[in-house]
Amino acid sequence: MRLVLLADEPEWRERLQAALASLRSQHVLLFAKDWPTATAYLAEAGHTLLLATPRHRPASGRFPWPTILLLDTEPDEAPEGVVDWLNGAHFSPEVLRRCLRYARERCALHATLQRLAQQDPLTGIANRQGFQTLLEAELAEHDGEGLALGLLDLDNFRRVNDTLGHQAGDRLILQVVARLKAQLEVGDRVARLGGDEFALLIDTAQRAGRAEKVADRVVEALAEPYWLDGESLMLGCSLGLAHAKADTDPDQLLWLAQVAMRQAKARQGCTWYLYNERVNRSASSLADLEGELRRALRRDDLELHYQPRLCMETGRIVGLEALVRWRHASRGLLAPNEFIPMAEESGLIVPLGYWVISRALRDMQSLREKGAGELHMAVNLSFRQFQDSQLLATLQRLIEERGVDPHWLEFELTETAVMRRSDQVSGTMSALAKLGVRFSLDDFGTGFSSFVHLSRLPISLLKIDKSFVDGVTAGGDNGLVQAMISLAHELGLEVVAEGVEQAAQLKLLEGFGANQVQGYLISKPLPLAELEKYLSQQNKAESVVSA
Ligand SMILES: [Mg+2]
Repeated sequence: MRLVLLADEPEWRERLQAALASLRSQHVLLFAKDWPTATAYLAEAGHTLLLATPRHRPASGRFPWPTILLLDTEPDEAPEGVVDWLNGAHFSPEVLRRCLRYARERCALHATLQRLAQQDPLTGIANRQGFQTLLEAELAEHDGEGLALGLLDLDNFRRVNDTLGHQAGDRLILQVVARLKAQLEVGDRVARLGGDEFALLIDTAQRAGRAEKVADRVVEALAEPYWLDGESLMLGCSLGLAHAKADTDPDQLLWLAQVAMRQAKARQGCTWYLYNERVNRSASSLADLEGELRRALRRDDLELHYQPRLCMETGRIVGLEALVRWRHASRGLLAPNEFIPMAEESGLIVPLGYWVISRALRDMQSLREKGAGELHMAVNLSFRQFQDSQLLATLQRLIEERGVDPHWLEFELTETAVMRRSDQVSGTMSALAKLGVRFSLDDFGTGFSSFVHLSRLPISLLKIDKSFVDGVTAGGDNGLVQAMISLAHELGLEVVAEGVEQAAQLKLLEGFGANQVQGYLISKPLPLAELEKYLSQQNKAESVVSA
């Protein structure tokens, strides 16, 4: 260990030199004439101890380094902010030996405590505090560039803890960390920020685009089934990615990755999302974005676009899906994935959801008055909306107020929502079903459904997610989609294929028995006025055919 002496009195120098010589000590004694020289010595190597007289104390009154205070007489009270002290009146080599040993132990203990405070005890990787330190250091070292930060959140981890217990939850976390580590290379870092929240620091200095490749591999690795107590289970995950720039500070980078993570959360299954500047350019914080959305709701800056659904058998438009858009003053028309996750998190989804339903019912009525024919109106309902105890009563009131026949109303629910098995969800669903409202299961195939559970709920349609429909090609492996369709039919459900973009896909899906299709091939989502035009053209075309 190096000792740095900071004292004007020559006695201390002589005493210490003599004592160290008589102890045959290995310690190196350095002399500093002033505070800057001492701090330069101290900063240059680890395991350095400062020995200083009180008059050299910095203005703060505390020495920032491990320090032994050199006093002339025994103090009345133990001095603060130092490891130990030596008293010139009672100085001996033996006293120095004990004092140095004590200081060394105190420093080692301090280092261990510091390490423990920065480490996750279960996984041994850095915790939130440790990661903060790490992030600051890495950003400084990289000059802010050549680094990407990933924030990862497991989607249904709490359910594992609830159903299988915390020990199983811990074992699952260890598996997750092992999979994460397997995707990283030397120079990358991983940390556990919370129960089911992780951070990845990806070194992109040598290879641009590496972070995106790592993100691909990470979500793929985490999507594989996990084995716990002989049972297999799947977890969804959302990874948000943000690249550091020359002037990014740690908090800013964490915030950008957090925004991206919320966007990834809008999609089901295991997904990642790269921070998009356009989406968040003017909102400096989530609170800002929340405030803006609150105002947008009040000022009617939201609009609904309607995407038609085509019936395969009759070739007619039989339904519409209402999709919300936010006409943002500076950022243009925002799609749901750009603000719905935030609305879900903040609880704004509840008033927003009612706005959507109310507007859809109004437009439904106006379409009917204009003779648009019999159309099912489908509205997306999120799990969070079921947590509102007023949901059923409010829906009943809205339906009554608009004078809409509930048989033409449909709610699209995601697998995650219906799989929560909560009594509230199934209770509300059956009460609405009694009114005549029907339900469809949205994005089918991307979540985790139990068919036993599905068959007990009043669901009439199953919407096959675009990601499966994309894979439908002539001569391709269409077995999965075919199986989904026949399974749905077996359960007495109709099938809607989402995201149909090519005529060849339509032909194949028709052959597989899909009942309805939705997608750009039929029409993109349209504002009400354009939808009216679209529907009247469809009607004309039809009457020409039948004439
Ligand atoms: Mg939908």
